[in-house]
Amino acid sequence: MPDTSLHGLIRPDVDPLPRYNSGMSPARFREVYGIEVRAKLDSNENPLGPCPGAIEVIRDLASMAGRYPDAGTASLCRAIAERSGVTAERVITGNGSEDLIDAIYHAVLQAGDRVLTICPSFGLHELNARACGAEVTKVPFPADWAYPVDGLIAELARPTKVLIFSTPSNPAGPALTEGELRRLLAAVPQGTLVVYDEAYTEYLPPELRFDVAGILTETGLDWVILRTFSKAWGLAGARVGFGIASHVDLIGAIMKVRTPFAVNAFAAAAAEAALKDLDHMQRGVDLSIAERAKIRAGLVALGHEVAPSAGNFVFFNTGEKATDFAERLRGQGVLIKAWLEEPYTNWARVSTGTAEETEVFLQAVAAIARK
Ligand SMILES: *Cc1c(COP(=O)(O)O)cnc(C)c1O
Repeated sequence: MPDTSLHGLIRPDVDPLPRYNSGMSPARFREVYGIEVRAKLDSNENPLGPCPGAIEVIRDLASMAGRYPDAGTASLCRAIAERSGVTAERVITGNGSEDLIDAIYHAVLQAGDRVLTICPSFGLHELNARACGAEVTKVPFPADWAYPVDGLIAELARPTKVLIFSTPSNPAGPALTEGELRRLLAAVPQGTLVVYDEAYTEYLPPELRFDVAGILTETGLDWVILRTFSKAWGLAGARVGFGIASHVDLIGAIMKVRTPFAVNAFAAAAAEAALKDLDHMQRGVDLSIAERAKIRAGLVALGHEVAPSAGNFVFFNTGEKATDFAERLRGQGVLIKAWLEEPYTNWARVSTGTAEETEVFLQAVAAIARK
């Protein structure tokens, strides 16, 4: 139904868009449920938070809040470039990498263009594309949770403006092997932009690590690799992510369609400080991997079907409508993310937290199962 109260102002394709299924802040949870959060496992955050150096730099910069930040975050881009072996001109930062997903789409998508991704998918890969008037085709994972490379290759026979996926994939968990990536890329035609979202790359096991930029470069395709400081680097609240692009011109186009001061001064400085503390980052990753194994074993012992995960989260079948299951867990102070995307509405994603949060979560799952 068109909205008459707004005098037809809203674009007709905006109305049917769902809102992003975001996690809940502890303060908001307290407000709504009247109890404290005991396990915050709904947003794939790092339970260790930022490194001490990042906290310190945010404090130190507080008095500079009256000044605009550097619009290009040149210093952060140089730091990223040095670590990635590319020139700083091919690096772009964003207000979280989701800001970059949006900006990339705005630079390339026209109404009616097709975006190809996987299912279950990271919500914004789909929603931001639909907000640009694009059509989204989603290729489901097979029952054995192998990365759906064959399905993507089959779909690439039709015109595709953007191929986008996360690996390790959020929320499902599987990651591409090098062989699978090479096979997939061989099927991508010129004129299709490849967006390789590696928000969880720091959690990959050694056998799934390879030179993604090098392999993408070999293909001669246009591509952007997306990374974030929100997960392994513990800076989700600061909002900073980055992209590395195949061409400087692609960065230039993205810059034109986005807000110039997307990354604030505190976030940029904190991210740069975070890059200097690899030990802190690795401690968080090691903790997540250890807790992931416990969560997985606990869920399996309680009879739940669990997808294999290379990220800091576990995707599992709740055995009922996931929103009902998650709501009962909220009654116990436990936050997870119920999946709303068909056909995974019985599935939920639980993030890795501290060892204590793992215990609280598994006890709560056992408790609500007995009811
Ligand atoms: C968390 C996440 C992001 C974005 O995170 P930002 O906080 O916006 O940097 C991007 N892609 C995937 C797959 C994610 O899970």
